[in-house]
Amino acid sequence: MSRSDILDLLNEHHVLPTPQRMEVAEVLLSRPQHLSAEQILERLKAAGSRVSKATVYNTLNLFGERGIVKEVVIDPVRKFYDSTTHAHHHFYNIDTGELADIPDDAVIFNQLPPLPEGTLEASVEVLIKVRNAR
Ligand SMILES: [Zn+2]
Repeated sequence: MSRSDILDLLNEHHVLPTPQRMEVAEVLLSRPQHLSAEQILERLKAAGSRVSKATVYNTLNLFGERGIVKEVVIDPVRKFYDSTTHAHHHFYNIDTGELADIPDDAVIFNQLPPLPEGTLEASVEVLIKVRNAR
């Protein structure tokens, strides 16, 4: 995604494109990927950015709330920010800490339970945790 595409995206989601937010967005949205807040912070620092840790976390929270990025929660201490925002499935490797997309058509459900009365389906997303075979 180009800089001008990112600007448009932030504007569409009513997020003021401050220089710091643009820096965070450019790291995460440059290509389809899953990054933790720490990984984003490392990349910014490696590129010579002075954006603070608090700003990175606040920005990612805001992007998550506004639907600019998708939050993928693995457990209470592990969260990824996904540049692909539609509902989709993932593999999470416990040994390597890597998160990878599963193609939509690779998961087929035979049967899903009836939804609780008075509810509508919001999304169905599968997280398959794997370990390295050895
Ligand atoms: Zn994903």
